[in-house]
Amino acid sequence: MNTPIISVKNLTKKYGDFVAVSNISFDVYEGEIFGLLGPNGAGKSTTLEIIETLRTKTSGTVTVNGLDLDSQANEIKKIIGVQLQSSGFYPGLNLIELINLFSGLYNEEVDALELLERVNLKDKAKAKYKELSGGQKQRFSIATTLINKPKIIFLDEPTTGLDPQARRNLWDLIQHIRNLGTTVIITTHYMDEAELLCDRVAIIDHGKIITIDAPDTLIDNLVSSGFEKPKIVKNANLEDVFINLTGHAIREE
Ligand code: ADP
Ligand code: MG
Repeated sequence: MNTPIISVKNLTKKYGDFVAVSNISFDVYEGEIFGLLGPNGAGKSTTLEIIETLRTKTSGTVTVNGLDLDSQANEIKKIIGVQLQSSGFYPGLNLIELINLFSGLYNEEVDALELLERVNLKDKAKAKYKELSGGQKQRFSIATTLINKPKIIFLDEPTTGLDPQARRNLWDLIQHIRNLGTTVIITTHYMDEAELLCDRVAIIDHGKIITIDAPDTLIDNLVSSGFEKPKIVKNANLEDVFINLTGHAIREE
């Protein structure tokens, strides 16, 4: 247990004089769902994209599954799954054609229909990307991260803008992927989501990691420091009301 699959040491990224990521160090363990949390501009995407080999770093070392980012970036690319920007999804192609295109780029044989079934999009196989709902787009983009059977996938705000049903559906999918053995790194602005999904989170602000631990431990530490909620918490919140009234079923289909 707790074998690091990603080790980041003293990572710094400067854009000109501006320090976006400031000397951060952390490990991600094999098989966990690891959350990077922080306000807009904190440096989450920069950090992810450096590990994904998509952005250069200013200094520090990054190791992914024993591979060094500086000398073995091409080997790292083979074992990670990265969500593509939606602009990369050619508008005229259907989902099957897009998956076949990407699997060709990865040089990877893949059963496109089976992959779509895994993300619950089999009945959209002939649809074009632009015809999908927000939740379906996210599920498709997660499917594309799985094409090369990666050890680690990176999800940068996969649930931003989704309705409560689609968000829950994505949580199930992410947990399912992890349960099959894939390590997941995710960023999110939804703290309920991070609390439910993540084994550990790092909270990052102004390019620095402020704290890193299991959500439960962080909450317990805050409570034992004397923190009290300003008002009595009820046993349900408005989101519970919403889900209770409208159900878990996805509405986009
Ligand atoms: P987050 O994903 O946490 O919102 P980012 O990693 O995208 O934050 O950005 C961190 C900081 O770096 C922000 O202040 C952002 O404006 C700045 N930044 C990001 N990319 C660039 C870039 N290519 N050139 C200059 N500044 C950038
Ligand atoms: Mg970002």
